[in-house]
Amino acid sequence: MNALEIHNLGKTYVNGNIALEDVSLHVPKGSFFALLGPNGAGKSTLINILADTVKASTGDVTLLGKDLWQHRAWCKRHLGVVPQEIAFDPFFSPREILRFSRGMYGQKADDAWVDELLMRLELTQHAHKITRQLSGGMRRRLLVAQALVHKPKIVILDEPTAGVDVELRKRLWTFMRELNAAGTTILLTTHYLEEAEELCNHVAIIDKGKVITSQSMSALLGDVASSALWLRYAKPVQLSDTQAQALADFNPRVCGEYELCLTLNKKESGSDFNDAYQAAVQYLGAPLDAGVRQEDLEDVFLRLTNKDESS
Ligand code: ADP
Repeated sequence: MNALEIHNLGKTYVNGNIALEDVSLHVPKGSFFALLGPNGAGKSTLINILADTVKASTGDVTLLGKDLWQHRAWCKRHLGVVPQEIAFDPFFSPREILRFSRGMYGQKADDAWVDELLMRLELTQHAHKITRQLSGGMRRRLLVAQALVHKPKIVILDEPTAGVDVELRKRLWTFMRELNAAGTTILLTTHYLEEAEELCNHVAIIDKGKVITSQSMSALLGDVASSALWLRYAKPVQLSDTQAQALADFNPRVCGEYELCLTLNKKESGSDFNDAYQAAVQYLGAPLDAGVRQEDLEDVFLRLTNKDESS
């Protein structure tokens, strides 16, 4: 059973921007699902459609087997969305906002749960302040609490940890893991690919409004990831068009400024890492150091979306 089924979703904004094109995705029930994509890929548009703040142009979505738009009230009760944008009434306190939110979902008061959320999101000390006095990080945590206040079965988090410091981020993920272990399906977008690799058991990558891949994390890292040859140079690596073209067979990518990363096209039987190394030496000069390692999620993501880290 899938928690979410998205079929042929398309979105063209009124100004003609095509944000999503024929997107189909299945989010298995109980999964911890990473929705990844470079800036402008369409992630927020997709999430905003699910949250009902943006209207889809085409396609349909079912949530726990029910049509999202036909059963809007029912779906809202089972869905918690943490949007990217923060908008609270500045004169209410976190505790008041959480209490009201439960009421808005048609649920009776549950102060024990509100207290637990405030505690887990490290807002207890700030529960009575007006939100205008809260820092950006606190407001973001309040958004997470608000999305969880009605105990939804599916939680969608759009960059929930942007601007949240490392230690707090870890504690937030521990909490999300616990919710997931208790049966909540979690879909998240994040720029922290290391975190996505560690937390998520499914991953979809979208780019320019289209799905590039959607599969289990283990399948992606097992089947799609390949060995990569890295070469470290004394100076920052910047590939000219000629160099990029000359190395095109080896998917050249600049990683972390000083490194060139090359992978072999699996279908191409003729070439090996020796050829890749020789080509790099020919076009960029001899590296200080070189080696072979298995690609991680970030490598696969950057290769599939054709980005280097400097862009
Ligand atoms: P992501 O969240 O992956 O960065 P978005 O969903 O924000 O991507 O954007 C996808 C595309 O839609 C981009 O080209 C963006 O410029 C465009 N877009 C997003 N919101 C609007 C809007 N309100 N009006 C017009 N174009 C938009």
